[in-house]
Amino acid sequence: MTARPPVPSRDEAGQQATADLLLVNANVLTMDPARPRARSVAIAGGRILAVDPARGDHRARDVADLGGATVLPGFHDAHNHMAWFGLTLSEADLRPAAAGTLAELYAAVTRQAAATAAGDWVIGAGYDHSKLGAHPDRDGLDQAAPGRRVWVRHTSGHMCVVSSAVLADLGLTDSAADVAGGMVVTDATGRPTGLMQEKAQELVTALVHPYPISVLAGAIERAGAQYLSEGITSVTEAGIGGGWIGHTPVELAAYQAARDAGRLHVRVELMIASDALHPLAAHPDDGLELGLDLGIRTGFGDDWLRIGAMKIFTDGSLIGRTAAMHDDYAGPPGNRGYLQADAAQLAATILAAHRSGWQVAAHAIGDRAIDLVLDAYAQAQQRYPRADTRHRIEHFAVSRPDQVHRAAQLGLIAVPQGRFVTELGDGMLAAAGPERHGWLYRQRSLLAEGLILPGSSDRPVVAGAPLLGVHDMVNRRAASGTPFNPGEAITAEQALRAYTSGSAYASHAEQAKGTIAPGQLADLVVLAEDPTAVSPASIAGIGVLATLTDGKCRFDVTGGGQLP
Ligand SMILES: [Zn+2]
Repeated sequence: MTARPPVPSRDEAGQQATADLLLVNANVLTMDPARPRARSVAIAGGRILAVDPARGDHRARDVADLGGATVLPGFHDAHNHMAWFGLTLSEADLRPAAAGTLAELYAAVTRQAAATAAGDWVIGAGYDHSKLGAHPDRDGLDQAAPGRRVWVRHTSGHMCVVSSAVLADLGLTDSAADVAGGMVVTDATGRPTGLMQEKAQELVTALVHPYPISVLAGAIERAGAQYLSEGITSVTEAGIGGGWIGHTPVELAAYQAARDAGRLHVRVELMIASDALHPLAAHPDDGLELGLDLGIRTGFGDDWLRIGAMKIFTDGSLIGRTAAMHDDYAGPPGNRGYLQADAAQLAATILAAHRSGWQVAAHAIGDRAIDLVLDAYAQAQQRYPRADTRHRIEHFAVSRPDQVHRAAQLGLIAVPQGRFVTELGDGMLAAAGPERHGWLYRQRSLLAEGLILPGSSDRPVVAGAPLLGVHDMVNRRAASGTPFNPGEAITAEQALRAYTSGSAYASHAEQAKGTIAPGQLADLVVLAEDPTAVSPASIAGIGVLATLTDGKCRFDVTGGGQLP
């Protein structure tokens, strides 16, 4: 992010500065420790000019009386998949709420097939086998949409199921192939069931990729419109350009195209999938081993579109029981998950990216994967010391106390998803078993160790509205009502800080956003109620009245383009 420009005030300029907009009669939660609460905010040139200006300090072209509504910095989802989410908006909705049984899932596939041109792929997303009792399979998909290429994605994104027509394209009709870091799952007779885990999904995506830029730009626009309605003004997109997570090698171009056409509604920081990086032919003394062409790396871009961390997957999913653990998952013995690549190779990629100046965001769910990442970050710092790297561990799902302590000592950022607790909590508890319950999706112990906690959803893995996230971070209950590692609950104030200043810090952007203070971008959300003042059970129900970026109203609940 760019540094704060100087803000002219009456004191410095010797005369009154003119505000474009003055918000008054507001309950402002600034997230700025220097002045946590305020009643009014002056905005000029898309930035905060003053907080609680004295009467007469600023002339204002426009004054909005918010009638006591609550104002916060715009929410920042620190880990989401924006294009993927936008695409799911036009695919069959297979989330548990829409397809609660396998029969309902197959019926949804049949409807999607009828609405999809012959020859085009029939795609659905969001199923959760732990709620359905089983994964769908090729035979069911073949029956639901005879002869069609059907691709249904698990809600975690870490696995998918395809129909026989797709398996035929891949030459996997009768027998599986070995895939490093993934699995083509077979039944007892060795026949593929259609289920593809982790990196085996790349076999499928190779058939549908690359997506055209125009399709992705449309998805980015649809996602952004929904984000604004939920108070989101910034997102970190957790992996583009490669691996099973990207949609095309030119994915950045889709975001640029959306922006050029005025279709990029929120600020986006793009993580680059590690597979998209390649060796650079730089001078050996440059230490630029791994990157994008021209040496582009973390930090390139501006306040609206910017390159963030390198995203690397070290393991898989907890509910899918593919994440790499030191000990067996609960249930049938012998399964400890697996790493997505050879351990030494993963560590070498992290080291090379660190040396080349990248912030690194490593997906690590199981305690074994977390140890690998902690070791790699420690070694990277030891061999090539760099200040203020803010390397991240995405999810940090099953962590021992000593791992939390070590993450703090290494100056890392753990990025857990509060929302997983509700939507995936029952499946996670079943997978981890009671001995590891206290290690799951920590928050409070991260803060206690001095870590900065960002707020994130991993949307479309789960629903991503930030107030839902804040609700879950406070309430910590699985969908069944079972308390989920309740000792890790935090306050609404702490959860709001996560979704604002915490996420900004994780993006090296706290000098530009995440707090309401002079000089910060005027990205704001207006809420009907104060999440810190209502009962914890009613946080999710709080309405978003308006969302501003650059000091301008981009969403309002009445649709009139005016602040309430
Ligand atoms: Zn993700």
